[in-house]
Parts: sequence; C-alpha cells; structure tokens
Amino acid sequence: MQRAILFLVMFVLAIPAQAQVCAVGRAPAAADGRVLGHLPYGDAPPDDLVPVPSPWAAGKGCVLRREVLPDLERLLTAAAADPAVGGRILALSCHRAILYQQSVFCRGDEAQKGAGDRAISVAPPGHSEHATGFALDFAFRPRVNGCPDVEACIAATPAFRWLAANAPRYGFEMSFPAGNRQGVKWEPWHWRWVGATGGAQGAQRARLLFARARRDFPADPAVPPDVVVIGHVDAPPVYLGAYPPPECRKGKCRMPRPARRR
Ligand SMILES: [Zn+2]
Repeated sequence: MQRAILFLVMFVLAIPAQAQVCAVGRAPAAADGRVLGHLPYGDAPPDDLVPVPSPWAAGKGCVLRREVLPDLERLLTAAAADPAVGGRILALSCHRAILYQQSVFCRGDEAQKGAGDRAISVAPPGHSEHATGFALDFAFRPRVNGCPDVEACIAATPAFRWLAANAPRYGFEMSFPAGNRQGVKWEPWHWRWVGATGGAQGAQRARLLFARARRDFPADPAVPPDVVVIGHVDAPPVYLGAYPPPECRKGKCRMPRPARRR
C-alpha cells in the first residue's frame, strides 16, 4: 500500500505544471515560471506609457515607458547624424499589451499546432518583454539588400553594427543573442532598456523586471551590470480591462489607438 502511495506521489510530481496560453491551449510551465522558454511579464501601467514621436517611429501607435524616451531619442539622433549608419534607425514595435500578444500568438491553427515551435520566435501572452513597455524592436531605413524588418539578415547591415556598438551606452541591450540558453530565436532587432546606469530615472524598475532574465540569460551586447541587491520581486501585474481588445481582420491584428486621456 505504501509503495502504491509513493508511486502515486512520484507520478503526480512528474507531471509538469501547466499554464493557459490560449483559449484552448495549455503549455508546460517550468519551475522558474518560464512557459515555452519565455519568462513571465505583466502589462505596463497604462499611465506610464507615452507615444514615441513620429520622426522616430516606423509606424503608428508606438508607445513606451516614459523613462525610455530620453535615451531612445538620444540614441536615434546620434544614429541619424553618423554617416557610418548609412540611414536611420527607427522604433518599429514597442509596447504590446498581453491581450494583443494573445491575438498574435493564438491566432489561427497555430494555437493548436506547434505552440512550442511558435514560441521560438513569438512569446506566449503574459511572457513577452514588450508588455513591460521597456522593450522594442528596431527597424532600419533604407532597407539594405532587400532585407525585411525583423529578419536575421539585418545583422549584416552597417546600421545594425552601429546599434550593437553603441546601444548599451544609451541603456539598451539585446535580449536574445545568438545561441542564447533561453532557447529563444536570435532576435537582433529586439532590445530592452535598463538604463545606462542604475541611477538613471526608471532604471531600477526596469532592472527589477528584467533581473531574472539578466542573471540567468545575459544579453549580448549588454549594459554592464551594477550591483543591485534584490530582496523581493512582486508577481507581474495584469491590468484587466485597461487595454482595449485588439482589432483583427483577415488574421492580422493591431492595437486600437489609445483613447485620449483627459
Ligand atoms: Zn520584439
């Protein structure tokens, strides 16, 4: 009898915890909170987000945490003034609410088939750095050799080489370098802001959010780490109802324009 109970306990312990990633789909959650390789992140408080000025954005509706903008503008201004870039660097995709991430990750048949494969290049909802408002994807203009946005070929462009050499000085680091142990696809276009120093406004908040990622899966190139003692990190917040649902047409989704605040 005791052996039977022991066997049952071992069997239950061997079943991985599950996380709900889509309306119909669940995925195993690792002991460190990762789902399909991605760490958990909550939504940015809506009032902390501000639009990226249009000269610096490749599209509409790019919003980031207020604290990111001064460094972002300094970085992109320096890039625009340096002939080595051969053009301009722009913000392509910025804050993405959890609801929007869900619409991207779960759309079509992909929700049922191969969530693991999809998670190599797209984070499951609730597990994207974009939700924090501290991460963005960069685009390069003009395009070189027909290389489209968010493809690895951008790493061969002069603009990317300039970004890799200079972005850490402005507080940005590349979250998912080639061959990262996290198992996420190499994303040379995806960078998170943690402040050039821990004393920069907002840097402590960003560094707290990304503390586990920076410790276990370091960025490359990376902002040099300051010594930060972390006693406790709260669970990621979810602002239910704070963000309107995404507008989807023919399988493509986009965030609706934020309502003007009074
Ligand atoms: Zn990204």
